[in-house]
Amino acid sequence: MPEMDASRVSRRDGDGREHTVRVQRTGARRVIECETCGWHRPAQFLPWLKAEEHLAQTHRATVDAAGEAQEQPER
Ligand SMILES: [Zn+2]
Repeated sequence: MPEMDASRVSRRDGDGREHTVRVQRTGARRVIECETCGWHRPAQFLPWLKAEEHLAQTHRATVDAAGEAQEQPER
């Protein structure tokens, strides 16, 4: 799995606010931490999946901020 520039996951919510979860590596351990709410947890495997999960569930942020034109999901 490529790990370059995968140190953070950013998603936008329905209001266009951006939420970022950082993936930090300390030796063999990985910790993911949300910049919006301070939520953090160890994530040994697939930290980016966990990050996306948190963004989606807690902040309802599912729009890839780095992705193409913003597409608002229907409400
Ligand atoms: Zn959060």
